[in-house]
Amino acid sequence: MSIRVHKLAKDLGLTSKELIEKLHKLKIKAKGHMSSLDDDTATLVKEELTASVKTRKTKEKTVAPKEKKTVSTKEKPVVVAVPCAAPEPAEEKAPEPSLELKVLKIDIPITVKELAVKLQTKPNELIKRLLSKKILITINQSLGEETAGPIAEDFGYKIERLPTQEEALLQDHQEEVDPKKLKPRAPIVTLMGHVDHGKTSLLDMIRETKVVDKEAGGITQHIGAYEVVLPKGKVTFLDTPGHAAFTAMRARGANVTDIVVLVVAADDGIMPQTIEAIDHARAANVPIVVAINKIDRPNINLDKVKKQLASINLVPEDWDGKTITVGVSAKTGQGIDELLEMLLLEAEMLELKADPDRPANGIVVEAELSKGKGPVATVLVSNGTLSVGDVIIVGLNYGRIKAMLDDKGHRVKDACPSKPVEILGLSGVPLAGERFYTVTDEKKAIDIVTKRRLEEGRKKLEASAKKISLEDLYDKIKEGEVKELKIILKADVQGSLEAIKDSLIKLSTEEVKLSAIHSQVGNINESDVMLATASNAVILGFHVDITPNAKALSKQEGVDIRLYNIIYEAVNDVKAAMEGMLEPVIEETFLGRAEVREIFKVSRVGLVAGCFISKGRIPRDAICKILRDKDVVFKGKISSLKHFKDDMKEAKEGFECGISFSFNDIKKGDIIEAIEVRKVARRLK
Ligand code: GDP
Repeated sequence: MSIRVHKLAKDLGLTSKELIEKLHKLKIKAKGHMSSLDDDTATLVKEELTASVKTRKTKEKTVAPKEKKTVSTKEKPVVVAVPCAAPEPAEEKAPEPSLELKVLKIDIPITVKELAVKLQTKPNELIKRLLSKKILITINQSLGEETAGPIAEDFGYKIERLPTQEEALLQDHQEEVDPKKLKPRAPIVTLMGHVDHGKTSLLDMIRETKVVDKEAGGITQHIGAYEVVLPKGKVTFLDTPGHAAFTAMRARGANVTDIVVLVVAADDGIMPQTIEAIDHARAANVPIVVAINKIDRPNINLDKVKKQLASINLVPEDWDGKTITVGVSAKTGQGIDELLEMLLLEAEMLELKADPDRPANGIVVEAELSKGKGPVATVLVSNGTLSVGDVIIVGLNYGRIKAMLDDKGHRVKDACPSKPVEILGLSGVPLAGERFYTVTDEKKAIDIVTKRRLEEGRKKLEASAKKISLEDLYDKIKEGEVKELKIILKADVQGSLEAIKDSLIKLSTEEVKLSAIHSQVGNINESDVMLATASNAVILGFHVDITPNAKALSKQEGVDIRLYNIIYEAVNDVKAAMEGMLEPVIEETFLGRAEVREIFKVSRVGLVAGCFISKGRIPRDAICKILRDKDVVFKGKISSLKHFKDDMKEAKEGFECGISFSFNDIKKGDIIEAIEVRKVARRLK
């Protein structure tokens, strides 16, 4: 019997890297996280390390203070000198109450039924408990870690997630790269900039002059990306220009772009979308090379554009700054060679490298259902070499690669890192931005994809993944999850933008830094929400509106948007949020109105109001207000809602019903209003 390093690390609550370091200190050989240790060594290591690890984990395990003392590194010299084993000072000050939670190792997601067995309770008990937490779920539905964790604690258990089959697979792909095996790869470039500044024209011009002419008679295929081969190296261009696509990919976790070419028309200069593009690139930490386009036009002033660039922190190199700027024309082709050369130079500085000799993984840049070929996807390999015949999984799809075509429509057998290829043979159409991984066989691929599909269904049932909100900021700071609060600011005038930005940045503390990743005049749009999603930011607006599309998207993505009219209120809110003092407000939504037309006295029930629903609906479980001459005389739950003798779930507009409350002073002529009460993010208008 033996145990893998990553498994042992998990058991000990360490990362593989931490464990390997410790093993080396114990003079035990372990190359990587997939290395094996025999049982005896593992037991020894466990004994040796548990003492030191425990102190690290006291917070989770809530070890009793007494026990904690005995394992303190101060009193008992630990064999291995491990820096991370020092007890956390905060815990010494305030020992947590001893509440031993038993550790339970389970597969996640887990069905209610399975979890009940593990928690040694009845499924019904578990369902009841979940219901009390407002989670409505049936016995065969699955729970994720975020739900199963807290509920297990109620039963005295702390759950630990066993690595999924998928994680085991991904670990093959994440095996540490050997620096010696790394080879330079082509930079992947996206063009961004204001509309009509010439992004598409530039992409076309580069393709026509640099791709086709090498291939006598060949025509380029639009597969979503193309490669330019130059004497000094290759450059890969993504065919979808603009920051919307760029950030949409990023929101799915795919940072494919290595360099952004910011296209600025020489005759137009910096425009609003230029600024947006810059902020999107910066939020992604992607370097920018500026192409000043349309230099063939008469009466243009390059210096004017450079001055504008300098004013937004893109100081051109020829002005002693760091930003590479190249004058180009997508019409005449002027400057394009220089631009390409600059891209190679920038790539060299970035030291872009990949290991072509490992299991291949990469990203989908475009995909569609082709009439003749079935699902096709253009992918860029990140690491490894993808070959015809490989089995891959990608999102909720899988397949054995039947054929691969390059950007000139030629069949190719292999694709090395950064080379765009269209692949055929997938089970369905993947999404742009999804990552693919090669796996050893089709059965494994099907297993993983089936699990992913189940998981997908579960995720849809549970609330959409929440992004950072001001409400949960404090907890996240405390848990050390958030070290930086990213903010997107939108205002009606430039003056307010600057003022609020300054006041907010000043709120930064040692624990959390506040940074405005994008601030601009104008309404909150989809692009802002996308940026917030991709960067986990909150959006603050002043005297602005949210476009309907942005509103819908923010709901879907769980992005926190707050609108204000007064700067100081926003600053106060953020401050309060950082201190954990931000209370949510209670929002009432009107559901329906009933007129009390008659009062009946019913024995054992009390007063029943005979009502007519004049507007909307009155659900049985709604909170109601009883209004008399505009005064609220009662607010509370309905005791019974009936139509004659039958209980009703809901009474609808135009119908009659009998309603009773735990209020025995209801009168003819009163108005009953049903409302929905929700706790919502505080939003000052
Ligand atoms: P995009 O919206 O940024 O993709 O811009 P397009 O590539 O669609 O270009 C917008 C307009 O500018 C088109 O009418 C192009 O013909 C024109 N255009 C683009 N580049 C140049 C250029 O270098 N010189 C001139 N004179 N016109 C250009």
